[in-house]
Amino acid sequence: MIVLLGPPGSGKGTQGEKLGQEFGFVRLSTGDMLREAARNGTPLGLKAKEYMDKGALVPNDLIINLMKEKIASLGKGTGVIFDGYPRTVEQADALGEIVNVDLALNLDVKDSELVVRLTKRRSCPKCNAVYHLEYNPPAKPGKCGKCGSDLYQRDDDKEETVLNRLKVYRDNTMPLIDYYEKKGKLLTVEGVGSIDEIFEQVKKAVL
Ligand code: AMP
Repeated sequence: MIVLLGPPGSGKGTQGEKLGQEFGFVRLSTGDMLREAARNGTPLGLKAKEYMDKGALVPNDLIINLMKEKIASLGKGTGVIFDGYPRTVEQADALGEIVNVDLALNLDVKDSELVVRLTKRRSCPKCNAVYHLEYNPPAKPGKCGKCGSDLYQRDDDKEETVLNRLKVYRDNTMPLIDYYEKKGKLLTVEGVGSIDEIFEQVKKAVL
């Protein structure tokens, strides 16, 4: 079981997806799950959207229950990469009660780079693939290269929300770096360079 740590825009989704493919793990992204619930108009999705649009965290009880159910639905022995969960110490404690976290992989990227990455990010609403207008543009402008859907800009990737998300990260999620360090589970990778260069470092950390 691997937990991906790192601020929004540090590459958790991109690297998590590649890790999943390489090692046969399932990537669970709470952000993807919540956005899908919001698109489907479920009560949880609509409630979560109020927080997400502001760049705030969805309350712990909602997210902890969502993940408990999701984890319970996986087959025994399934390897999981957690992307965007836990984001608070309370969530980390709750996760530690139901699974054994082997590694917390921290992707370290400086704030100025994160703002550029997030504001120029484009996402696929259908298969959750992510692109960047400069660093990783889709072959056909505006279209997902994997499933052909129209790409969109997430509401929370607009600049004013991005700045709030970085603050929320510092206040609530950064303490998890210490949390997993104290448990001897932390490895940090510099999340700078091309996607493939970073992935080489990520693989070394995991092996
Ligand atoms: P992400 O796609 O990981 O950037 O998450 C997008 C948004 O979903 C966050 O800004 C939060 O509003 C919400 N969210 C995702 N994961 C969590 C979590 N573990 N705890 C609370 N809120 C979350």
